[in-house]
Amino acid sequence: MDHRNVIDHQGGVHEGLFNSHTGFLIDLSCGAGRYKIVRPYEQLDPARITESPLSCPTCKEIDGAGPAAPRHLNDLTREYAEAVLALADRRGYRPALDNEGFRLAFDGLKLAKPPAEKHYPLIREHLTSMLTERALTVPEGTPQVLVEYQRYTGGVVLAPIGVGDRLMRNGIASGHWPIVEVTAVESTPDGAVVTIREKNWPPYRCSGSEAARWFFKLDRNPGA
Ligand SMILES: [Zn+2]
Repeated sequence: MDHRNVIDHQGGVHEGLFNSHTGFLIDLSCGAGRYKIVRPYEQLDPARITESPLSCPTCKEIDGAGPAAPRHLNDLTREYAEAVLALADRRGYRPALDNEGFRLAFDGLKLAKPPAEKHYPLIREHLTSMLTERALTVPEGTPQVLVEYQRYTGGVVLAPIGVGDRLMRNGIASGHWPIVEVTAVESTPDGAVVTIREKNWPPYRCSGSEAARWFFKLDRNPGA
């Protein structure tokens, strides 16, 4: 998450919270929402980004971070995201990141105060960061094979493949996109070799460069 000061439609200055991979303005620290700065269906005007000091009283108070300062929305929403991820891990699958997925998660968590709905975009961004961090981690000593990983809220990074990862085959040519699991990554004199388990097929091996061409990383198996 990036923080930059932004100017609202009335000329007030707030602290904006941005997607650090795409530069998308998600919300303001005071929780007023991105439409305080951007009109619906329009892109953020770069002229809205400013070095001027904050003038919004709530953003200022949060930024002051004195002992009496209200909780920073960024911290609060990160805690929500951690709770949603922990709940998903207990169930053994990654969380759904759409609004309905969040609603169900919060029902399950009984976390309604203060209302979380307003802050789904920020919670989603924190979850995306956590899932990306997880996708970038593999067991120590794994030979390095890098494949593309698409962040949920935008941006592609290269992630290493490890045992227990779920990959998706690039089906742009075949029209089908099977999900497979990595059961081994070994180093051989000819380079890294990845063993793949795919439903209805005997396990097969491919070289690191084939794996990088054929697959995207989806996520790590929560049980791995
Ligand atoms: Zn503000």
